[in-house]
Amino acid sequence: MQTAEQTTSSTVQKAWNKRPLIISGPCSAETEEQVLQTAQRLAATGKIDMLRAGIWKPRTKPGGFEGVGTKGLPWLQQAKKLTGLPVTVEVATAKQLEDALHFDIDVLWIGARTTVNPFSVQELADALRGVDVPVLIKNPVNPDLELWTGALERVARAGIKQIGLIHRGFSSYGNTEYRNAPMWTLAIEMKRRNPEVMMINDPSHICGRRDILIDVMQRAIDLDYDGLMIESHIDPDNAWSDAKQQVTPEVLKEMLDKIIWRKEDVNSPEYHAALEKLRQQINHLDDELMQLLSHRMKIAEKIGEYKKSNNITILQTNRWNEIIERAVAKGEKAGLSKEFITKYFDAVHMESINHQKKILDA
Ligand code: PEP
Ligand code: MN
Repeated sequence: MQTAEQTTSSTVQKAWNKRPLIISGPCSAETEEQVLQTAQRLAATGKIDMLRAGIWKPRTKPGGFEGVGTKGLPWLQQAKKLTGLPVTVEVATAKQLEDALHFDIDVLWIGARTTVNPFSVQELADALRGVDVPVLIKNPVNPDLELWTGALERVARAGIKQIGLIHRGFSSYGNTEYRNAPMWTLAIEMKRRNPEVMMINDPSHICGRRDILIDVMQRAIDLDYDGLMIESHIDPDNAWSDAKQQVTPEVLKEMLDKIIWRKEDVNSPEYHAALEKLRQQINHLDDELMQLLSHRMKIAEKIGEYKKSNNITILQTNRWNEIIERAVAKGEKAGLSKEFITKYFDAVHMESINHQKKILDA
């Protein structure tokens, strides 16, 4: 068991602070041979900063492969020795956490199915007290920022100083393109609330398939994520878990080479001047939109007054359907998606109803 006096080694610190931080390894540790080969082939790409492997696997249904358990931890120790790369595993219970630290696992991560459960997160937080180990926290399975924040706070209160977040997407009924819908705005909002905490993207669990991995990786880099965690297996088709989403270390290298690594900031004054001008235009348009919306609400209020004096309900479904149909048709011609138009008008409609309700209640 690691003690409070022991600090994490400088290689771990170096990896933790590297941007972009690239973590890779198999979904699950299966055999010693598979772990060591994967680790060595990943290290040979020269593009990986940290190794990952699942030792205890949370599965939706019983009867599947639930991980090799503690016997896989020495394989990771060996992988670390062979490659010089730090290693990270998922822990879900205090016992798993103790076992992982006993076998010198450098970084721990809390999985999506654990983040949803405050009892489990608190159990881990209690076990982390007095321990100096970096912890990564995956978003909860369901799109709930408060649960993600709660986990972050519990781990921070346990005295853990180095905490990172992993965005692995959210499960949503009826979603087909992704295994877990990215819902980018949620991760962006989490980053906005916690600007000092690193945010890593996990394209593997978002996609659930290989063909769109690179698009999600590029998207994350374009959104200025701090790093990526991607699953890699020496024989992806025969992986014991998540076979469809894993790629070989060599394919991963090709993908990392293809990505365009954009910087958040560049130093050229021309670039800044051009950007500033465009940003001012956006601010100007946003101001105008706000004025127009305010004007629209004033008219809605007038309608509210007529409705009040004639004793008519606020919501008139036919009129609303007519507005939406008209807007979608016009919007699509103007290059705006149906999804956006519908969401936008729903919000405007709600605001109008609130304004009218105030009139009717007055
Ligand atoms: C994993 O990383 O293999 C895993 C189980 O991920 P998640 O917790 O995001 O489902
Ligand atoms: Mn997996």
